[in-house]
Formats: sequence, C-alpha cells, structure tokens
Amino acid sequence: MKRALRKNLGEDEAEALSVSLPVSGRGYAHVCPKCGQALTLHDLRDGDQAYWCHACNVGHRASDPPARAFKPLPQAG
Ligand SMILES: [Zn+2]
Repeated sequence: MKRALRKNLGEDEAEALSVSLPVSGRGYAHVCPKCGQALTLHDLRDGDQAYWCHACNVGHRASDPPARAFKPLPQAG
C-alpha cells in the first residue's frame, strides 16, 4: 500500500506543486509600487538586500518593503 501510494505521489505530485506555487512563495509578486514592474534583487554593501526598479530609479530594502510593493497574484482555479 505505502509503496503504491508513494509511487503515485512521485513525479506527478512534485510537478503539480512546482506549477501551483507562486514565485514569491506567499501568493504575492514583488513589484514596483510606482509602475508595477517586477523588481530586481540586489546585494547591498552592508550585506542586506534591496529590490530596485530601474525604470523609476527607486527601491527599498528587502527587509523593509512598502505594502504597495506586494501585488496579489491571481489565484489559479
Ligand atoms: Zn517602477
């Protein structure tokens, strides 16, 4: 029984999970609060990381994101 169950949950299950998981991991995309484009992640000199929008030339630390930087992803299904 266990062996059959594990076999059924193998690659198909893993594939389904990877497809259904959002990029950010919590159902939100990390976007620019001003223009809505996806932000790029950069390493700072002090060891922190920051998200940056090259179009607007604005950004924020990854540890201190403004609420508007999170855009809810459409729920699949
Ligand atoms: Zn922007």
